[in-house]
Amino acid sequence: MQYLFIAAELSENINKLYLKDSEAEPADYRFQLKCTNCGEDAQKVVTFNAHEKQELAGGKGEASFVMKCKFCESSNSIVASVFEEGLFCQQSENVDITKRKKANLNGNKIDINDWAALLQLDCRGWEITGYEFDQSPFAVELSSGSTMDVQFDEDGTWYDYDDEAGEEVSITDFKFKVIKAK
Ligand SMILES: [Zn+2]
Repeated sequence: MQYLFIAAELSENINKLYLKDSEAEPADYRFQLKCTNCGEDAQKVVTFNAHEKQELAGGKGEASFVMKCKFCESSNSIVASVFEEGLFCQQSENVDITKRKKANLNGNKIDINDWAALLQLDCRGWEITGYEFDQSPFAVELSSGSTMDVQFDEDGTWYDYDDEAGEEVSITDFKFKVIKAK
């Protein structure tokens, strides 16, 4: 199982950074992939979400994403599920420790308390090697209760102005990592 984690520096007036994601309007993720069978990179960036599913060939259930490797022709797939709601200003207070323990995400090897595990990825034959986060529909919930859409620059920053509160809003140092767990 792989997990997509995000972290960032949020300005004090941001309560939460999250994806606008629902069954009715699924958030698309754009990923770069590598085939674990032959080790070749998939030649295009792929898009899928955590809500829509496709049938696997031969009645083997369903997956969020299905694509044959062009090089070794292995039939690879990924099942994506929403894991945590978003990145909070007080992230460690908002983490469900029990849920993380069950997913084996609480090892001592990695300090992930300041990170949010957005997505659980059951990858069969694909490994995630890149995530185009600036193409995902991120939004913030402000401490005033209002929300704003976020459009990241490629370097993981976003600056805007909350007209209602008369304050600047910013995110800097956005980063992601994909962690493998059992
Ligand atoms: Zn392959």
